[in-house]
Amino acid sequence: MMIRVESLTKVYPGATSEAPALRDVSLDVGAGEFVAVMGHSGSGKTTMLNIIGGLDRDYGGHVTLEGVDLASMGDRELSTLRNRTIGFVFQAFHLLPNLTVLENVMLPACFRTVDQDGAADDRARKALERVGLQHKIEVRPTHLSAGERQRVAIARAVLNRPDLLLCDEPTGNLDSATGDRVLDIFLELNREGTTLMVATHSERVAKAAGRQVTLSRGRVMEDPP
Ligand code: ADP
Ligand code: MG
Repeated sequence: MMIRVESLTKVYPGATSEAPALRDVSLDVGAGEFVAVMGHSGSGKTTMLNIIGGLDRDYGGHVTLEGVDLASMGDRELSTLRNRTIGFVFQAFHLLPNLTVLENVMLPACFRTVDQDGAADDRARKALERVGLQHKIEVRPTHLSAGERQRVAIARAVLNRPDLLLCDEPTGNLDSATGDRVLDIFLELNREGTTLMVATHSERVAKAAGRQVTLSRGRVMEDPP
């Protein structure tokens, strides 16, 4: 099992315990699956992705990634796992404005000291080629459209060839043609074996994913086979 979530509960500090952000969420995701995480705004999608991705360590229950309980890992081990195994695409892109597109994509390589396969520069160029932005590598993100920025964020997320790609509303700010282009990139990565969990409101993304998980007020509502 790629991801095993067991009785996951999250209460943000200051929030009332009657309204936890996640309550008793259990979920298994197999290697190679493409899961769409659906649900209204505030239903807990971002909270769940952050916990699975090791960005939030303050929760109840268990999250196991490739057989290892995240809670059993030290901060260092967890950062290594995050850098090698997991790619993150955030809704707000999180690109650094003073770096070029190429430099932004190369960033994850800076945090990786061993096990380099090929120069970071080469890998970043290839990642940008795959999202169709090889002609924009010297540009700064402020000169790109929303769709192009999202594709840069995807190129950066896949630089270290993660087994798991977590994406938080990746097509939320994009028009439908641009959203389709991003979806095509996801499908290609999935065909190559990347496991994908994508929080989305898009019916197109949901349809394209092999599986849908819907959250409602912090609970899993439906998970049709
Ligand atoms: P979604 O991504 O589905 O819109 P979130 O995971 O962002 O939902 O939010 C789930 C619930 O947790 C909401 O009620 C939201 O207000 C609350 N929440 C999210 N982030 C925080 C935070 N940093 N502090 C307090 N409450 C939060
Ligand atoms: Mg969210």
